Parts: sequence; structure tokens; C-alpha cells
Amino acid sequence: MTVKQLIKRIFLIEILKGMALTLRTMFTKAVTRQYPEEKREAMLGFRGLHALSKDSSGNMKCVGCGLCVAICPSKCITVVTSAGVRHEKVVDRYEVDTLKCLFCALCVEACPYGAIVLTRHYEYSGYNKDDFYMTKERLLENYDKYMGEEEGRVYLERFWKPRLEDFTTPEDQAVFDKGKKA
Ligand code: SF4
Ligand code: SF4
Repeated sequence: MTVKQLIKRIFLIEILKGMALTLRTMFTKAVTRQYPEEKREAMLGFRGLHALSKDSSGNMKCVGCGLCVAICPSKCITVVTSAGVRHEKVVDRYEVDTLKCLFCALCVEACPYGAIVLTRHYEYSGYNKDDFYMTKERLLENYDKYMGEEEGRVYLERFWKPRLEDFTTPEDQAVFDKGKKA
């Protein structure tokens, strides 16, 4: 133990510092908010209730690739797809069990299309588990209610990587071509 530490211990410097801080703040205005009467709006980027984002034509962006399902640490996302008439992938079900969710936003980061987002909305309660089970329809509704086109654009611009929406293969990228001989 150094001399400085010894002096601090003998004269209870830390305790005196703590008491001085208490005295200083004792007569200042309390910072505690009287929720729910007093509310503070959550900032954009807050990890609130999930939503499935839509493009400018109002169509769901999700293509059912399952990357969000794979990365989700609490396994609370379910995606069920089927083949459409033109053999395209159709997202039949997209569900999030918010009671299991950690609100880590890894799903948002993993999604290559910016299709799943976390809105600012955090005030939701319910009397049964179903109230917290977000189906595809509810998630799309959440987007309209708690984010919307303009806010969604700003949100994805600020928080979503990559920022480009061009997913075509770059010309210089090595690709596996079955017909090509080495
Ligand atoms: S926020 Fe995290 S825990 Fe919640 S659904 Fe997304 S990846 Fe899963
Ligand atoms: S939300 Fe994104 S990552 Fe998840 S299935 Fe849809 S497109 Fe894929």
C-alpha cells in the first residue's frame, strides 16, 4: 500500500467525498420521472418493439432468407416460406416471440434487406402470452404505426449496414461457374 492510499484510508477520504456529494445534491431538483404521467420519447435507434419494414410500394421487404433466424441468440424468430407460382420464395409466416427477445438488434444487423427493424415503441403490456407474439401481420402493422416510411428511411440510413441496396455481384468477384474449366 502506498503512503497516499494509507492517508486516504486513515482519514476516510472516500467516505467524506461521498457525503459531500450527497450534501451537494440533497437540495437540487429530483431527476426521477413520475412515469407514466411524465414520459420521455425514445430516440430513433431505440431497441423497442419489432416491425417488418415495407418498400415505397408498401410491399414487405423480407425475402425469407432466414439470416435473422440464424443469428438470433434466443431463437425467438420463426420464418416459414413456400414456393410461389413462379418458383419465387413466399414468406408465409414471420413471427417474433418478444417475451424471449433480448433486444440485441442482431437480427437488424444481419438482415441484408433492412427488412426487420426495432421501433421506438416500448409501452406495450398484455394479459396473456399471445399479446406478445408478433405475427407477420402484426409486425407489418407495427411498421405503419411506430415507424413509417420517412422515419424508416432515416433509421436504415443511420443504423443499417451495408448502406447500398445494390446486391448484384461485383464484376471482379470470383464466382463458381460449373461450365468453366480451370
Ligand atoms: S433483437 Fe436479438 S433476440 Fe430479439 S429477435 Fe432480434 S436477434 Fe433475436
Ligand atoms: S427479415 Fe431479413 S434476414 Fe430475416 S428472413 Fe427477412 S430478409 Fe432474411
